[in-house]
Amino acid sequence: MIKRIIDTSSLAAFKSILASVNRIVVTCHKKADGDAIGSSLAMGRLLSNMGKNAVVIIPDQLPASLEFIASGNEFFTFTMCETKASNILRNTQLILSLDYNSFDRVDRMQPLLEASNAKKVLIDHHRDPKNCFDVMFSHPLMSSTCELVYRLAAEAGWLQWFDKAIASCLFVGIMTDTGNLSFSSSYPDVYEVMAKLMEYGIDKPYLYKQAMDTVSLNSLKLQSYAILNKMTIIDDSIALITLDQDDLKQFNYRTGDTERLVNKPLSVDGVFWSTFMREDSKYIKVSMRSEGEFAVNSICAKFFNGGGHKNAAAGEFYGSMQEAVELFHKIVEQIKNDITI
Ligand code: 5GP
Ligand code: MN
Repeated sequence: MIKRIIDTSSLAAFKSILASVNRIVVTCHKKADGDAIGSSLAMGRLLSNMGKNAVVIIPDQLPASLEFIASGNEFFTFTMCETKASNILRNTQLILSLDYNSFDRVDRMQPLLEASNAKKVLIDHHRDPKNCFDVMFSHPLMSSTCELVYRLAAEAGWLQWFDKAIASCLFVGIMTDTGNLSFSSSYPDVYEVMAKLMEYGIDKPYLYKQAMDTVSLNSLKLQSYAILNKMTIIDDSIALITLDQDDLKQFNYRTGDTERLVNKPLSVDGVFWSTFMREDSKYIKVSMRSEGEFAVNSICAKFFNGGGHKNAAAGEFYGSMQEAVELFHKIVEQIKNDITI
């Protein structure tokens, strides 16, 4: 039996909001990953199956590697149809926030969400949600927002509206947020949720292949180059990979091409902290992964305007790559000298 985790008064409040609205918008964070898009599409489809008018609006373009989840599911990309999406957002009665905990994670949709008088409901697994929601389902111990959506739906009695497409979206989000059940998944219930999702007849080998084991040739070459030529390992334990605009151009970089690169140095025995810096157009994107008790979300929050989970976090650095690398080395020195971060 999967344990009950949903607060009953929050669920009652959510149900009463749902009963009083028809127009609903489901949103997720910018640069959507498998969990963000999977949970949003699943929630949108669930609400549609329940007879609600639910629209999924994602902040910006999906990476090509995640387009397979989208096929057959309807959604709007804010940056590609800003006028229409803005109108929908202005007229909605309820906004659902999936897989993010603060409106500064939705890019150009932020002012519209902040100004909206619609009810706002959070469904998320990031720590410390901002106090801007009418109802919150905030569960930092969950593997993924997708797992949380399944458990919320099960406890709410909504599984009767589940179908294979919803189960497939949720399965993908759990796979991608746990590295196919290699991290953030050390408790039995997540496996029970996976088993329940399998009962909808999902094509697991296809979903695994698409979500976890398919890259473009350019991406494979870029990641190989990054590891061979652009990776530094400090003290056999701390890895840094940097890719600047010239590197990205050389391999015809497209959004998503560096997905999971930051995880790779952790497979070297002894490496417990990996950082990847990529020079985007407006800032240096900084991603960090760690093993064990070493928390990278606090480092990203303190130095890189970001945050995330203990072992997977990210942020942004406004300055040159050289300055970002210098700051990184200063942080490493502080940690080596045991100054508390
Ligand atoms: P990634 O390195 O895959 O882009 O992000 C890792 C994790 O860090 C994400 O799952 C998300 O929880 C968090 N994250 C990514 N970018 C940001 C950011 O700009 N701000 C905050 N607060 N968290 C982020
Ligand atoms: Mn997530």
